[in-house]
Amino acid sequence: MSNITVCARFRPSNTQEKQNNDSGCIRCIDTESFIFKDEKDEEFVFSFDRVFYEKSEQADVYQFLALPIVRDVVDALNGTVITYGQTGAGKTYSMEGLGILECDEQKKGLLPRVVEGIFDSLNFEDKIYSIKLSMVEIYMEKVRDLFDLSKDNIQIKESKSRGIILPGVTEITVLDPAETLQSLSRGIANRAVGETQMNVASSRSHCIYIFTIQQEFSSDKRMRSGKLILVDLAGSEKVEKTGAEGRVLEEAKTINKSLSALGNVINSLTCGLQGKASHIPYRDSKLTRILQDALGGNARTALLCCCSPSALNAPESLSTLRFGVRAKHIKASPRVNYSEEKCDNSFSVSSPSGDTSFGASS
Ligand code: ADP
Ligand code: MG
Repeated sequence: MSNITVCARFRPSNTQEKQNNDSGCIRCIDTESFIFKDEKDEEFVFSFDRVFYEKSEQADVYQFLALPIVRDVVDALNGTVITYGQTGAGKTYSMEGLGILECDEQKKGLLPRVVEGIFDSLNFEDKIYSIKLSMVEIYMEKVRDLFDLSKDNIQIKESKSRGIILPGVTEITVLDPAETLQSLSRGIANRAVGETQMNVASSRSHCIYIFTIQQEFSSDKRMRSGKLILVDLAGSEKVEKTGAEGRVLEEAKTINKSLSALGNVINSLTCGLQGKASHIPYRDSKLTRILQDALGGNARTALLCCCSPSALNAPESLSTLRFGVRAKHIKASPRVNYSEEKCDNSFSVSSPSGDTSFGASS
């Protein structure tokens, strides 16, 4: 049993915050703790596994939060990385960086680094691999396939051997990092975006990236598989603050409902109910259902709580940080997944000749 990893990240002040001469809401103590000041000047001390302040590098976030999970997934465990926070707090910047293709190395987010990490960790000495990628978004409580928009209401099922599955979802077999990034970029272009006063291009859906890494041992043909889920959640802000109306208001209510469901699952998991799985309300939303394996189950999970450094956003940041504190108490017990299914040899990833880095074990 291990607790999930919870980190906080504060983005740099934006132009508006700088113009307002914003005093800021945080005072650094060290790499794990800070003092948070709310709008009434009340102070709270928060501690997390790691705090990434505004000068933090994307590479540091990857190394601390995601790299250990990538290594586990290549060793056939399940892993999940979630970004949480209000719109404009830095979730997508952390997850994708500034673009998936042709991004400045320094600005690359978790996704492209995870892709490199996966391919770098493969060990071809005794295994063959098959790597598959799916991308879905949950918009208005419907799961939509981002590689095939005609599949706009994918069901969520549970399989004894594979855990939570999405029957019929497009699974793209990827053979190298460049091809994987191309596919990711195509899926991202399909994301539904709406407009709110907080951020003109804020995302109103939860975006979920699923990597499945199957492996077969050359010696005894044993099969194992690991699943890595990355989740860029929709904004956690309260509806009233966005001034939304009509469709956007409906979107916001649906988002709030699914994030509340996530909060309720976390509360149930941390209120001594572990072991009584039937009492954990995973089925209250599509989001919690898809993340069922990831929360309190068979996965190593990391949560990045993204916050604005501005005093103006203190109430939303406080709510994000409190969410992180609650999540910290969740225990999970990841285990290696042996499977019956065969690797599809015709699509197996193989070591490019002459490139020794690809043969290296993690
Ligand atoms: P969210 O996905 O949470 O709505 P974004 O990731 O889109 O927020 O971030 C909002 C804006 O702030 C974007 O312009 C983004 O590039 C910028 N930003 C966020 N985090 C950082 C950071 N750590 N460093 C530099 N810019 C950032
Ligand atoms: Mg976003």
